[in-house]
Amino acid sequence: MKFRNFKMVDYVVYGRGCFDQLDEILAPQRKGDAPMVYLLDHYFETNNELKARIPIRGNDILVIADVTHEPKTSYVDELAQMLKDKAGTVSGVIGIGGGSAMDLAKAVSIMMTNPGKAQDYQGWDLVKHPSVYKAGIPTLSGTGAEVSRTTVLTGPTRKLGMNSDFTPFNQIVLDPALIKDAPANQRFYTGMDCFIHCVESLKGTFINEFSRSYGEKAQDLCEEVFLHKSEWNDESDEQLMMASFAGGMSIAYSQVGVAHAVSYGLGYLLGTKHGIGNCIVFNHLEEYYPEGVATFHKMVARNNIYIPEGITKGLSDADFETMINVSLGMAPLWENALGKDWQSIMNKEKLRALYEKL
Ligand code: ZN
Repeated sequence: MKFRNFKMVDYVVYGRGCFDQLDEILAPQRKGDAPMVYLLDHYFETNNELKARIPIRGNDILVIADVTHEPKTSYVDELAQMLKDKAGTVSGVIGIGGGSAMDLAKAVSIMMTNPGKAQDYQGWDLVKHPSVYKAGIPTLSGTGAEVSRTTVLTGPTRKLGMNSDFTPFNQIVLDPALIKDAPANQRFYTGMDCFIHCVESLKGTFINEFSRSYGEKAQDLCEEVFLHKSEWNDESDEQLMMASFAGGMSIAYSQVGVAHAVSYGLGYLLGTKHGIGNCIVFNHLEEYYPEGVATFHKMVARNNIYIPEGITKGLSDADFETMINVSLGMAPLWENALGKDWQSIMNKEKLRALYEKL
């Protein structure tokens, strides 16, 4: 038995208002005139209050990151090239936003020190050199991107992360006040990503006590905020932020499962975003996760959320084939969900039937 030795985030600061310590945290990381680069989720483009609190010093660069779509390898290359042309080298890349903005920051920081194109590093342990310093600051909680060892990217031929020991952030800043104003729908879809991480980790065959300890806590916190509390308050933000962190820690040492494997196919073909895509799929996974799906349905009803239906209506055979191939390509996810003999349980016909339900 060989156990995974996984790389974690170097530093974590947690607390309401801790974002204002960013200047002090970054000061020792500054290398001469080389700028700090802030990749700010375009959701905050007109939020002057937040922008004014970003510690822009000297020739620091603020980039409004277009995360209308989940990050593409071409966009990563474009941003890294722009920074090289503008500054030569940078002191660090700081991602402020949801999972996409944080993943973008990880990928760009890697491409500042690694040759070639971002697509060359989609896979496991392909990154050759340490990235420049990087920090992640979530403004939406649930994806676990703040703690993960990957950065999910859509490339010309596949949707796959740069999964490596050089991918986790050097620093994360967990300030619950920053997630306060997230739109309710968005907050729910992203929060459910966390809930689904927990169910898939806890019900998977890769589970161990390390993952279970984090997964159970994260699942409790999700149920607390989306099912049991009478109203959303400051404590809810704090709980959801820690749920995301713990959910991410849980899957770091296990794996996700059926909802993620199927949702990746939707994301690749239709551009469906991760959080809502997982909800669309999980909504129909009673066969695999009966208790989790029952709880999910209660949370959907309680929060008055619409989960889209019929999104694969009218797709061609070739389209279904594409989604099926992307999905079945995620072997570790299927193995975690269904065991070593997963191919005897899940096949193209069965998966097609599932996609047709969505
Ligand atoms: Zn996820």
